[in-house]
Amino acid sequence: MIEGTPLPVTDNPIDAAFWTAALRGELTVQRCSGCGMRRFPPRPMCPSCQSMELTWDVMTGKGHIWSFVIAHPPLLPTFAKVAPYASILVELDDDPTIRMVGNLIPNADGEINEVDPTTVAIGAPVSVVFQTVTPDVALPRWVLT
Ligand SMILES: [Zn+2]
Repeated sequence: MIEGTPLPVTDNPIDAAFWTAALRGELTVQRCSGCGMRRFPPRPMCPSCQSMELTWDVMTGKGHIWSFVIAHPPLLPTFAKVAPYASILVELDDDPTIRMVGNLIPNADGEINEVDPTTVAIGAPVSVVFQTVTPDVALPRWVLT
């Protein structure tokens, strides 16, 4: 991991289950118990039916690049020193209504600036990998499949 990378708070009751699953290597999204709609990022209330009841679905972690940007400075100092790199928006194969922002890396141990940003393409198939960066944090990232 790049030194100085800001890390998520993983004990917030709204998304703690997401981060606990990530530590197990599982990509999860919320499913509303009222109407069945999946949603991401985690939030306490369904935006469709306003139910506060939910469960968590384990996704396959497969998707494709729906869009992307190549980050260039000015950026936060931590990221400026490794730019340029690709930030991608992944549409999940399990549920095309779910899109997740992340980084494309060459392999599970790779860094965010190790994929040539000129090779990133919309529609490319990707799979999630988890990089455990602290005992409490596993970051979901994406590799080409
Ligand atoms: Zn709902």
